[in-house]
Amino acid sequence: MTHLRSLFAGSETLSAAERAAMSSLRRGGISSVIWVVTERCNLKCIHCYEGGRVTPELSTEDALKIVERLEEAGKPLTFVSGGEPLLREDIMLLLGRLKERGIRVILSTNGTLVDEGVARKLADLGVDNVAIPLYGPEEMHDAFTRIPGSHERVMRALKLLSDHGLGLTIKTVVARRVLPYIRYLFDVAQTFNARAVYLCDFIPVGRGAFLREEVPSKEEWRALLDWFIEEMILGDAYDGVEIDIGLHPSTAIYVMKRLEERGIDISEAERKMRERRLSVEGRGFISISPTGDVLLSNYLTDLKIGNALRDDLRDVLNHPLYRAAGDSSMLRGRCGICPYRDMCGGSRVKARIYTGDLLGEDPTCLI
Ligand code: SF4
Repeated sequence: MTHLRSLFAGSETLSAAERAAMSSLRRGGISSVIWVVTERCNLKCIHCYEGGRVTPELSTEDALKIVERLEEAGKPLTFVSGGEPLLREDIMLLLGRLKERGIRVILSTNGTLVDEGVARKLADLGVDNVAIPLYGPEEMHDAFTRIPGSHERVMRALKLLSDHGLGLTIKTVVARRVLPYIRYLFDVAQTFNARAVYLCDFIPVGRGAFLREEVPSKEEWRALLDWFIEEMILGDAYDGVEIDIGLHPSTAIYVMKRLEERGIDISEAERKMRERRLSVEGRGFISISPTGDVLLSNYLTDLKIGNALRDDLRDVLNHPLYRAAGDSSMLRGRCGICPYRDMCGGSRVKARIYTGDLLGEDPTCLI
């Protein structure tokens, strides 16, 4: 969740969501939540971090209690995710209740189940944004999801949702085989007036554990960022489309240093990053699992810090793991002695997955 254009090009593309997140952070200490409402899915993506795992999920009654917990906790920006959330029979009820309680909602769906009726309903409910994954043109996307026809259904979903005026985000994973298609993803985003392209670093867990060769090198990441700098931060290509990077906070430090070298004033970006560290674990972000467990991250399912049915979410923030992850002075290795640790903090998810140490260094650092 690193918005490069907002940080460095003064873009206001995602400012409403950012303002909502900051205001809920002040009210309850929680800015954003990923709520995985189900792990059931109708695709079989080759990189899926859930790896086909399907844990039991909450009843409708209990899921509605989670909505109450979110309201009490300051109405954080809530990403309703899966699995495929539209497979839950009660999903419209849950989305409607979230909106009734004044919570900003981003629905993360693979798009294959979006038809005219679903698009209209999501618009009627006032869902703030729908995030849909795309990995490339038809042949590439269908090979990635391992479901023929999934690309066509994504295109249909984007058209329907756009026609109904819903805010859109194109999501992808920065795997090596996706890199040649990043420009295509921005083209699609522009065609459908999407607000952002979300590029999540590829993490070799779940099914992705068998695809370690898909992890991009640091040089490949730097080349991608250099392209963003030239064409979208200093240039105006894909104007109005935010570049949102997931699980790779040092990307922003890399961009900042490149701009600084060119004599560009980066003081405002620096101020924003000091105000709110880029690494979100332990800093206002939590995840809720299909069973209601509260996690530091949806990638770290063994690090439970509470249960949303049992606990007040504001109390969960006192858990020692949450406090440690958010305390940059406790970081170890290169992150522990890094001059940028208060702005960046390194990905705590990747530190844990690659080194086994939640507070260790982020081995994917680009600096
Ligand atoms: S060493 Fe850690 S804190 Fe410093 S820039 Fe790299 S990832 Fe960020």
